[in-house]
Amino acid sequence: MSSLKALQKLKAENDQVVAIRDLLDHTVKLHWVKAHIGVAGNEAADRAAKQASTKDSIDIYLGTPTSTFKTRLKKMVLETWQARWAEEEEDRGRFTYNIFPEVKTTRCIVDRYVTQSLTNHGLCPYYLKRLNLHDCNCRCGEDSEDGIHHYIFWCPLVQHLRKLNRPGLDIAQAVSHPKRVQEMRSVLSFVHANQSDIFEDNT
Ligand SMILES: [Zn+2]
Repeated sequence: MSSLKALQKLKAENDQVVAIRDLLDHTVKLHWVKAHIGVAGNEAADRAAKQASTKDSIDIYLGTPTSTFKTRLKKMVLETWQARWAEEEEDRGRFTYNIFPEVKTTRCIVDRYVTQSLTNHGLCPYYLKRLNLHDCNCRCGEDSEDGIHHYIFWCPLVQHLRKLNRPGLDIAQAVSHPKRVQEMRSVLSFVHANQSDIFEDNT
């Protein structure tokens, strides 16, 4: 059926359709037939299709270069990925989505401290409470959320380690600057090493 529709189109999309049209004249009529009903031509087409499926590669030229297929597939994959990223229903990954609303195949983050700062999944009272690991807050008392950014940008208890990262700075910009990343690493390592002094139990 789809082959007949392709032949009906005003503008042919591949060379095979053009070649078939060239063979047609007023003596030929095309009809859709139900498969496997004993029509000799249909049976022959079935046999040819089965035989072709055993080949290692495709030996006909479809009229569209491989590069075009690759480009179209890449575009489709990116569009699907972007739609899923934008329409997350269970509120997962929204912290990171607000930093990077657009998906990108070139974005690859391997530094664990950078990952923590971009996901809010790291050693901080917000994360410990969210996972029911430890009911605590920052001893400084200046923030009720106490997420990972509290330590990277604001907490006075680690002020002595901070020169470049300051309140109001965009986290995406901060993680793209090597010296700011280094400072972030020092701050988060310090919090990790001194967590019993920095975190205060709520019980
Ligand atoms: Zn604090």
